[in-house]
Amino acid sequence: MDIKRIGIVGAGEMGNGIAHVFALSGYDVLLYDSDEEAAGNALALIGANIDRQIERGKIAKGKRSEALARIKVVASLAETADADLVVEAAFESESVKSAIFAELLPHLRPRTILTSNTSSISITRLASRTDRPEKFMGFHFMNPVPVMELVELVRGIATSEETYAALVGVTKNIGKTPASSADFPGFTVNRILMPMINEAIYALYEGVGTVESIDNSMRMGANHPMGPFQLADFIGLDACLSIMNALHDGLADTKYRPCPLLAKYVEAGWLGRRTNRGFYDYSGETPFPTR
Ligand code: NAD
Repeated sequence: MDIKRIGIVGAGEMGNGIAHVFALSGYDVLLYDSDEEAAGNALALIGANIDRQIERGKIAKGKRSEALARIKVVASLAETADADLVVEAAFESESVKSAIFAELLPHLRPRTILTSNTSSISITRLASRTDRPEKFMGFHFMNPVPVMELVELVRGIATSEETYAALVGVTKNIGKTPASSADFPGFTVNRILMPMINEAIYALYEGVGTVESIDNSMRMGANHPMGPFQLADFIGLDACLSIMNALHDGLADTKYRPCPLLAKYVEAGWLGRRTNRGFYDYSGETPFPTR
């Protein structure tokens, strides 16, 4: 299937990055966000992120203007429908996503593939509310999108082989590695990563070690590039808690019980880097552990 133009719904953290990688790889992008400010900031942010890649020698200077010229910020959701593939990257809310699909579907061509970047909502359920479950898939990018190599391709129960093959091709074209995952909570990466982070929080909670000793243990003893608390603060503790809740609810196994200490940090509004405080405090020159 020939895919040339990509519609992206949501120009936040992920939508921005997704637009960035598609435009750099030669695809035309139609980018929409319901928040005018987010949409307005999108091109400037993508430009700044491309500049960083140029400084690091990752891409050639000439690519910047070409890539930016391929991104068109559009003022309505319906305008993203003029695409061969639509990637939904709006808030992680089933009602928000379903409302977007309901509004978009009457404008979509029958051949267009519809995807969601959701981290925790059932692809099969989202697909069932569309007119094209066989052309619907999970297209799960990792954060930060321009840096991370993997993209999880999540087939709902009705996704066709043709749709899956088309997304494998697109993923390779943007220089990423596709990983197939079945449609179960957390897909593959979060199913394994989040319980590890949650277990580190239990270890802290039970006094096995401190934030620093546990992070050092996993960095130097397991060769992880970041300790679990550094990583949790980077991801956002609210996101960690919501994915643990999705695993716990969706798989109904007590081994996924979110640590009460994680819930407490979220209740306090200590969400990690984004709020300047999580398992580390980021208010000074160097982060220092809060426990
Ligand atoms: P974000 O809050 O940074 O951005 C979401 C954007 O969607 C916002 O700019 C918002 O204005 C926009 N939006 C909300 N409702 C909309 C609507 N009806 N129409 C158009 N735009 C709308 O969120 P994010 O971190 O970019 O996450 C987006 C999706 O990607 C979520 O489903 C999330 O689970 C998933 N995801 C996030 C990460 C991550 O690490 N942040 C990683 C993988 C997947």
